[in-house]
Amino acid sequence: MLAGLDPEQRSAVTAPAGPVCILAGAGTGKTRAVTSRIAYRALSGDIASRHVLAVTFTARAAAEMRSRLGVLGVQGVQARTFHAAALRQVRYFAPRLLAGRAMPELLDSKVRVVTLAAAKLGLRTDRTAARDLAAEIEWAKSSLVEPDEYVVAAAKARRETPYEPARVAEVFVAYERLKRGNGVIDFEDMLRAAVWGIEEHPDVAEQVRSQYRHFVVDEYQDVNPLQQRLLDVWLGGRDDLTVVGDASQTIYSFTGATSSYLVDFPRHHRGATVVRLVRDYRSTPQVVGLANAVISQARGAEARLRLELHGQRRSGPEPELRIFTDEPAEATAVAARCRALVAGGTPAREIAVLFRTNAQSEAYEKALSEAEVPYVLQGAERFFERPEVRQAMIALRAATRSIPGETPLPAAVVEGLAAVGWAPDAPPAGGAARERWEALAALLQLAEEYAATPEVLPIGEAATVERQVTLAGFTEELARRAAQQHVPTVDGVTLASLHSAKGLEWDAVFLVGLAEGTLPTTYAKTPEQVEEERRLLYVGITRAREWLWLSYAAARSPGGRARRPSRFLPQLDRSGGGERAGAGSPARRAERRRPQVVSCRICGATLLAGADRKLGRCPTCPSDLDEELYERLRDWRQRVAGAQRVPAYVVFTDATLTALAERKPGRTEELVAIAGIGPRKVGLYGDPVLALVAGATVDDVLPAENFGNQSVNRLPSPEGEE
Ligand code: ATP
Ligand code: MG
Repeated sequence: MLAGLDPEQRSAVTAPAGPVCILAGAGTGKTRAVTSRIAYRALSGDIASRHVLAVTFTARAAAEMRSRLGVLGVQGVQARTFHAAALRQVRYFAPRLLAGRAMPELLDSKVRVVTLAAAKLGLRTDRTAARDLAAEIEWAKSSLVEPDEYVVAAAKARRETPYEPARVAEVFVAYERLKRGNGVIDFEDMLRAAVWGIEEHPDVAEQVRSQYRHFVVDEYQDVNPLQQRLLDVWLGGRDDLTVVGDASQTIYSFTGATSSYLVDFPRHHRGATVVRLVRDYRSTPQVVGLANAVISQARGAEARLRLELHGQRRSGPEPELRIFTDEPAEATAVAARCRALVAGGTPAREIAVLFRTNAQSEAYEKALSEAEVPYVLQGAERFFERPEVRQAMIALRAATRSIPGETPLPAAVVEGLAAVGWAPDAPPAGGAARERWEALAALLQLAEEYAATPEVLPIGEAATVERQVTLAGFTEELARRAAQQHVPTVDGVTLASLHSAKGLEWDAVFLVGLAEGTLPTTYAKTPEQVEEERRLLYVGITRAREWLWLSYAAARSPGGRARRPSRFLPQLDRSGGGERAGAGSPARRAERRRPQVVSCRICGATLLAGADRKLGRCPTCPSDLDEELYERLRDWRQRVAGAQRVPAYVVFTDATLTALAERKPGRTEELVAIAGIGPRKVGLYGDPVLALVAGATVDDVLPAENFGNQSVNRLPSPEGEE
């Protein structure tokens, strides 16, 4: 085992029991050193693996740690996130701590309860404001700041608060009260319960501490005060603790995490073994060079501990910067590159597309599906795995036997869902209950869509076959969708946010959307916040073993406002960049290999980018857009999306609206001729769209009965999400 380590790593691995601190840059083998240390001690009989608790910050990192330990021949180590470890402890001890009372339900999001809390104070919040309030409460609780301390603490931390700090504090108080009243707890409460269980109950403390004797924390630069507190009570004064981290990868300070525990570790733990690692084993010298160039510009406290990395691998390709006209074009090109890489033998699971915000993922999901490249979305919610959805599916299946076949599908679904206590009138109060209600409401929505969607038949079959829209058919459809989601797509391209990519590595990495306003995000205002954005780019770059593509789109959508490249990008060679780069390369040829040629209806050029194809012309060719119609279509789309509680682009993208307002289709056939409008969309929206083109007003085409009932008593839906 020691043979695979360099002398510095070896000194960390073989250090005697007691505090060990590994301070090192990305890819220098911190995680390898720490897993080797556990394995070395377990296999040499120094410690028992079941007494080891290895803590990480994401479930994926925990899984990675377990798999690395497995490779080293060690089983039985508890490798968990702080949350999972705390939850396990709280669940285990709940009967003892709660004296027979049921364990409160755990909220998976604060947003709904925060919205209700704000409303109680007469504060109307849209989803964004509610999220910001939730983030403030989360920050406060993670930083061990009580509601009455919030105003002072927020000023000290220079928080940018969504409302007056005093107002936020009031919402915080109302949130806590509402939560207690509804018998639900949030994640921070759960960590606090784990702390409290140990501090107040000597028998619990004794049992936890005899179970966990050796502690390891990876990515320690991102620990927050609440997590540190839990770590302290777990340790209970003992010092068999190994921490590893890199201050230059501190990317969660906005949530209350702080690298100060890492930086101060040697001072707080006398006699700690401190190891520094600078040899980068992960990436090529080209990638390492770019990483060094980016982080060398860093300022602030975290930058003081910065280390220059030394690449250990052999030379590889230069990182490439590509510039695209718009985001759909960027996504299409990235998907084509992924496809080419896979065709060239790189396993899809060794490729990642990383972005700043999760909202960016949709374009890549779509582009990858169109390119037929499998992908895995990291951190995505799996709808069909939620317990209430599974129960409801069982209930619906049972209902097929009792509900007459001729009952209209939505009515049958409402009746079937009554068996699990769901009623369409109004969502109940309380976060968890509301989430459950919403999930079941989504099933009804699926039923409505299913009933409205014409059957798409494979080419060659009779064009008109009446499909039976029955409850039985619908339950089959649900089962099919669930099965599709359950397919373990282990071998897919990873789509992930930069935040969730920490600690991971891939052969090929695409860093997309590297424009000002996205990275750094417009929300980064203070110098500290901007520095954190820089560190995010550093984290992203250092995920790549070999291939690294950086890209951004000059405009968000075709013809949109121009944007500048991210200020963090060093002056790369941009001469050959953009869509013209490497026109003869295999990837470029693959991009051209499209099932169907779409030409610009103005100049006749072949259109490659998805958005241009939808538009039916080059973005640079003159537009004959009917502005007035475009406005009406937008207005209509906004209201439909609002009523259906989906982002506007789910109804139609901007590019499709533009195409509609330019081409003004008069018949269904002309409608389907617009790329991006298929039979499903025609079934759902064909009639109102044709009516709008013919001059109808938005009110004319929005029948009240379709949207009326559904939108009452709902929380405000997201606005203008595009
Ligand atoms: P990060 O800061 O991104 O979390 P890290 O410091 O934890 O990175 P690891 O993930 O442990 O780095 O290691 C990076 C890569 O280098 C891994 O593929 C690992 O197997 C490899 N590696 C680490 N140490 C050595 C070594 N001594 N010899 C060869 N390869 C090594
Ligand atoms: Mg690591």
